[in-house]
Parts: sequence; C-alpha cells; structure tokens
Amino acid sequence: MSDSKLAVVPQGPPPALKPPVDPATLAHRALAGGDFWRRIPTYANVGASEFLDHRWQAKHSITNIPKLLAALEGLVSEAFIADAQRGFERAPMSVRVSPYLLSLIDWADPVADPLRTQFVPLASRLIPDHPRLDLDSLHERADMPVPGLTHRYVDKALFLALDTCPVYCRFCTRSYAVGIDTEEVSKFQLKVNVDRWQKTFDYIRSRPELEDIVISGGDAYQLRPEQITQIGEALLGIEHVRRMRYATKGPAVMPQKILTDDAWTDALTRVVEEGRRRHKEVVLHTHFNHPREITEITRSAMDKLCERGITVRNQTVLQRGVNDSVETMMLLVRRLGYVNVHPYYVYVHDLVKGVEDLRTTLDTALEIEKGIRGGTAGFNTPTVVVDAPGGGGKRDAHSYEHYDRMTGVSVFTAPAVHPGERYFYFDPIHLLPPEGQSRWADPAEHARMVEEARAAAAAAPH
Ligand code: SF4
Repeated sequence: MSDSKLAVVPQGPPPALKPPVDPATLAHRALAGGDFWRRIPTYANVGASEFLDHRWQAKHSITNIPKLLAALEGLVSEAFIADAQRGFERAPMSVRVSPYLLSLIDWADPVADPLRTQFVPLASRLIPDHPRLDLDSLHERADMPVPGLTHRYVDKALFLALDTCPVYCRFCTRSYAVGIDTEEVSKFQLKVNVDRWQKTFDYIRSRPELEDIVISGGDAYQLRPEQITQIGEALLGIEHVRRMRYATKGPAVMPQKILTDDAWTDALTRVVEEGRRRHKEVVLHTHFNHPREITEITRSAMDKLCERGITVRNQTVLQRGVNDSVETMMLLVRRLGYVNVHPYYVYVHDLVKGVEDLRTTLDTALEIEKGIRGGTAGFNTPTVVVDAPGGGGKRDAHSYEHYDRMTGVSVFTAPAVHPGERYFYFDPIHLLPPEGQSRWADPAEHARMVEEARAAAAAAPH
C-alpha cells in the first residue's frame, strides 16, 4: 500500500450512529445500597452484620398486627395506623413482614408506596370483591389427585410441599391454604407431612407423562435444608422427571438467606448439581413485583447463585398502584436482567378475595406488554399471561377469543388443557365505563353478560 493511500484514512472517532444514551435509561443499575435500613427508627442501631444475617431477619420478622403497628409508631400518622388495623381485620392473609422489607417502604408516603400496597392492607382503600370471585379461583383443588399436588397440564405438576412463607402477601392466590386461619378464612391444610409427600412422589412416579415439577407452597424458603434434599433426591430419582423448579418469594423479601444460610443454599446447589449430572434441569423461580425490591443485597445474593450456575426466573403479578405503568415495568424488567434474573412471566392479577384494589384491566396489561416489548432482548422480555379462572391455566393475554371492554368480560380457551372449554376473566368493576358499572350493579345482568361474551366468542372468526 502506498503512502498516498494511507493518508485518506479518516481521523478521530467514528460518526455516531445513535445519539448518546439518556442517563435515565440506565436507572435500572442504581440499586439501593449502604445501611438504608437505619432510617427506620426501630433499626437505627442495627449494624450490617446483624441486618445481613438471615437468622436476625427471621427472628425479627413481624408476625402479628400489634407488633407491626408498634414498629410503625412515630413513622406514620395515627390515622394510618387505624386504617391498617381495620385493613388487617378484613384480610384473608396472616401477617409476616421481614425487617428488610419494612425498611424498603417509603414511610414518608406510605399510602402511595408500592411495597406497602402489597403487604399492609388499608381499609380505606378496599373495594368490594368482584361478584364472580371464588376463593380458589384457579380451581387448583379440583385438579388435585393427591392433597397438595395439582396436575393440570399434561406434563407438569405443582407440588405444594408446605403452607408457610417468609412473608405473607395480601394478594396471594393460594390464600385458601397459605398461612394460618384468619378472621375471614379457615385454611385448607397443607402442612409438611412426610406421608403426604410420599403419596405425591408415588403419584408422580405412576404418571410417565410428568416431566416438569414445580415445588411450591407456601414457599421453598421455609423448607429445611434436609427437606430441600429429600424432595430433590426423590424427584431426581424418578426417571421421567426432567425439570424441577423450587419456587420462592424469598429473594424479594429476604435475600440475606441466600448469603448467610449456607446449609440451605448448599442443599439447593447440591440438588442443582446432581440434576446436571443426570442431565436434568433444576432452577429457582422467584417473585419480584417492583424494581425497589431489588437492592445491592439482592445483587450479592443473585451473584452467589450465578457463580454456582443456578438459573433464576421471575414471575411478576401486575398490580394497580405497584407496577401498572410501562415505566415501572420496564425498570423492573431491566433491573431483573441486570442481576441475572430472567423475567419469565407477568400475570394479570387473579381474582383474589380482599384485594380488588390491586387488580387492573386486561387492557392495561396489553398496553404494558406493547410498551415494554423491544426495551430489551426478547428472551429477557416477560410473557404477559392470564391464569384463566376456573382452571384453564396460563393463557397469553393477547389470545382472548373475545374481550368486551364495557363489561370487562374476556373469554379464553385452553385447547391443550381442557379442549372445548371456555374461561372468563373479569376486569374490576370500578375501572369499567359507567354503562358497564351499572350492568354489574344489577345481579340479574351478571349471567347475561357472561352469556353474551360466550356467544360473541363462539361467533368470532378464528
Ligand atoms: S410468598 Fe407466594 S405463596 Fe406465600 S403468601 Fe406470598 S404469594 Fe402467597
């Protein structure tokens, strides 16, 4: 090459193809760190070594209403305390809140806070349940060949190993069984019971089509290490079981356990490694709903699981006032990806007793899906689903056969689960246009609206 040709090589940086990135698009990397818990008076003198210890978190978790309200004294107004007190009296769930979770709530504005909204009910915000609500709206018990084992999909089963959790969420779909009885609900018993577990393993062994088992409850965080091992070994030993998922909300409410409960994390790791040796997949499924639930402590915990080669997937519930905007959901999805948690599903909120204020419309879900798709890689973009009431299972939110935005009735089918059946989802009445609200005000109209939707779905072109 001659010198004259070298002289035409352009100098300086290449021309920019894209404008510089808006710093706001990197907000997902700004995780809460430092000793953020000290701003709560009760934890002002708690050092990092205590706060990061799962035993301290468990010991100081608040499990009754007077204690919770006492911890909030001086932080919130008397009116707020009275409102929360009345809210708990009407709640279907028991109380359990970790200090970590309590310290992530913005107590300067507790009414609007998205974390408070999920765990501390306020009577003033409660809205009457939808008339079509059923306590076990997903009809899990109807598909139980053994108590605590739901076999709905051909190749997958849900094993409810126990009935306790590291936190109790207001919106729990399994409020029919999870936690202790409340003034509102007597629970279906799903305690740890070795005989029941054995019957479950026997059933799974007898059904060669079952390849995929979800171990849930309750919550796998509450299983002792030897129970993690016992379940893992029993299921890995069944030839046709190929995939297992331990389901826990723990990383969102007490990530400290992964960092300091060596026996539990090691037990999980051994099952994952044994699965790998047998060419079977064992993963962790978790449940973050708001970007603020992901802190530097979460990142350390997820880093530890990443180092051990443990895949973590997330299932979010779409909730009004928590994550029902494109901005919040986008931030959550990006933040999950940033800490190596795969955003797997966003659920349109089930019909659950006592939490109508948390539900939103199918239309909102569709708008959010449209808004977030393309914001990050497709494999890291959650699928938005409706868990079809009545036992249809998870349906892509866009796959409705018919959706009447005036009555809020949408119709789904589940050909691979129950061919020929139709399933109905109902938007919250208070978010419907006036005409829809007035039709729901008349009980004689209820069945008619459902039948209209059924007929429209049957007539819709396919
Ligand atoms: S952690 Fe899961 S099972 Fe437990 S109360 Fe919350 S939603 Fe229900």
